Amino acid sequence: MASSSKKSIDPNSYFANTYARSAPAFVKGKGVQLVDESGKQYLDFGSGVAVTALGHTHPALVKVLKEQGAKLLHVSNHYFAVPQIELAKLLIKHSFGDKVFLCNSGTEAIEACIKFARKRASAISANKYHVLSFVDGFHGRTYGALSATAQKKFHEGFGPMLEGFHYAPWNDVAAAKAILDAHEFAAIIIEPIQGESGINAATPEMIAFLRQYATEKQIALVFDEIQCGMARTGTLWAYEQYGVAPDLMALAKPLGGGLPLGAVVCKEEFVKTLAPGDHGTTFGGNPLACALGVEVLKLIAAKSFLASVRQNGAYLKKQLQGLAKSTGRIKAVLGTGLMVGVRMNDDMTPIVARCKAEGLLVLKAGNNTIRFLPPLTVTKKEIDKAVAVFAKALTA
Ligand code: PLP
Repeated sequence: MASSSKKSIDPNSYFANTYARSAPAFVKGKGVQLVDESGKQYLDFGSGVAVTALGHTHPALVKVLKEQGAKLLHVSNHYFAVPQIELAKLLIKHSFGDKVFLCNSGTEAIEACIKFARKRASAISANKYHVLSFVDGFHGRTYGALSATAQKKFHEGFGPMLEGFHYAPWNDVAAAKAILDAHEFAAIIIEPIQGESGINAATPEMIAFLRQYATEKQIALVFDEIQCGMARTGTLWAYEQYGVAPDLMALAKPLGGGLPLGAVVCKEEFVKTLAPGDHGTTFGGNPLACALGVEVLKLIAAKSFLASVRQNGAYLKKQLQGLAKSTGRIKAVLGTGLMVGVRMNDDMTPIVARCKAEGLLVLKAGNNTIRFLPPLTVTKKEIDKAVAVFAKALTA
């Protein structure tokens, strides 16, 4: 009796109303596949929003989980833990950076970038605290990151935002310059490819301008590679495709292989003004998350891995472009590597719902873009299966 009445309760009734969630509830996963409570299988082409880059329960990650889990789960940041040292070394080895700060999420990585940039700038000039970010960007939900997120819908009801934040239209060099010229800036924050708002890539001209301006005016150039970084676009970092490096880079999502882990990678000059106690977090650099991070980074940084992301990404795009031609319902297929967006001519909501009903999980982005972020380990065969379901959902 009790169990049958329990079954009928909508799980939303247990939670604060922050997500638009609906069934199913998942119980397990393997590779690109997820399985729900009823045993129904799904192709996970959202990867928990770009988190499970190696797919679900990757054997190498499960091994690390078991080994590290049996050794050490937490020490305070009064000491070191071996996996965090290994992770910091690897991040530095594989990037432009020479220093690392470890935290637990994307929004925390952005908060740290803002604080580091403002501390450095405060040593240059008392008024050098302004922060520029870009319309439709997404940087997180805590107040610094939220203030940098130039989307009205996320600010409404939560004001006021932090002082000194300014927003430039996307890919408009002249408009960005006019704003930058008007104040003393500590930081410019940009997603090289905007993920949440619909796979919008920054133009090379925009990035080149920002790099030059930031250097000239001693502004910290921050790349938010939380979604587009870590092999997602077919190079280890998205910035590589622009031929410039940022001063600070925020990472999270796939870094911990499914466990919460964020990082700031930066040039030494941008953290020289920091002193112990200026910033910190209890769980930042958690040994278990870092041990997974080490394994993730080792696997995805391999040349052959990156080449396969590029090949499979090009294949996915080609198949979707084929659907664009044959159905006439798609405005454009966007993106690089395995960060792909299908911009629709009409409402995407019923298509995403039909995909789910047919066992394919894809993500909405912005107003009218369906996002494909499959595990970076996805195969051509799995892409074919997903595209077949998508085609059916499009033409239903
Ligand atoms: N920055 C980008 C580009 C993101 O896509 C996200 C999350 O979607 C964030 C920041 C915030 O990350 P988190 O949800 O881990 O705080």
